[in-house]
Amino acid sequence: MMRDMPLSVRADLADLPNYVPGRKIPGAIVLSSNEVSTRPPQSVLDAIANAVAEVNRYPQMANDDVLARTAAYIGQPVERVAIGAGSVALGQQYVQAMCREGDEVVFAWRSFEAYPIITHVVGARSVRVPLDADHRHDLDAMAHACTDRTKVLFVANPNNPSGTAMRTAELERFFDRVPDHVLIVLDEAYREFVTDPDVPDGLQLAQGRENVAVSRTFSKAYGLAGVRVGYSVASPLVTTAVRKVGIPFGVNRVAQAAAIASMDAADELLARCAPVTAQRERVHAALLEMGYDVPPSQANFVWLLLGERTAAFNEHCLEQKVVVRAFAGEGARVTVSGLPEENDAFLAAAHSFPR
Ligand code: PMP
Repeated sequence: MMRDMPLSVRADLADLPNYVPGRKIPGAIVLSSNEVSTRPPQSVLDAIANAVAEVNRYPQMANDDVLARTAAYIGQPVERVAIGAGSVALGQQYVQAMCREGDEVVFAWRSFEAYPIITHVVGARSVRVPLDADHRHDLDAMAHACTDRTKVLFVANPNNPSGTAMRTAELERFFDRVPDHVLIVLDEAYREFVTDPDVPDGLQLAQGRENVAVSRTFSKAYGLAGVRVGYSVASPLVTTAVRKVGIPFGVNRVAQAAAIASMDAADELLARCAPVTAQRERVHAALLEMGYDVPPSQANFVWLLLGERTAAFNEHCLEQKVVVRAFAGEGARVTVSGLPEENDAFLAAAHSFPR
């Protein structure tokens, strides 16, 4: 007979850092999660309401309608596209599809804080490559960090939280250097906020490269952070595997309908990015003027390098009812709102912080 053993969970999960979401404080201006501040347009809200009325029914298992609409929207064959419950779910699916225990996943640090978590959950090993002195990806060092065990390499472009973006020529050179057995995932969660013409459209750059995948999301520019839906594009071989490891019915009916309606309303939604990027330049210039160290951003947030003063800055902003995202000892990431008055409140807080 089997000996009685206590119930246990994986001991290594104790080392897993928790994903710390942006704080929500009643009545405060929330600039901590890189969301847009405006509600979706009525057509999207209507599609969501219609889907809500049918939530007694499962969603489409294979995401057929949203998949077909997304493929047409981005001009890619359906067999290259996967839909996920946010691009973070797709990121995890990439690691699950490519890695066995002990395999390596390379990414910059600091970058999106979910990368080490989704890597660890799968039992793979994180290889963190420090950003360079300008807070940009050190692509040479990242290519150098690839070994026979490396299966996935994430490049967030623009990067979270630094906001910095890599340009076409440097990415092409990098793609040529990374070994073919490594899947490069270009994470373009903030792509729609890019204004620098030298920062590439990842889908164009990935053309003809079997080991480059691109992930994007409806959470940011399309304003659907609360329903969880994103997409990715990769070779049919990789896409088939990425779909296989997805949780069955993982993308819910409301998310599917909202994504389709958002692509139908794309002109209106993407027009909302211009005020954000204009505000970004204003906020960036104002912070530099105040003496803050802030790298140029191509995303909908700015990154204030505050070092040991980060915690105090965070508390000061909270006292002013502005919620930012602090990374203790490093800096604060602050979402740029499309609403100037929200940015004004933040700038006033930054101005009154003793420097
Ligand atoms: N990638 C990056 C770089 C991000 O910053 C985020 C959101 N914080 C995501 C992916 C995930 O977004 P979502 O899962 O909402 O699509």
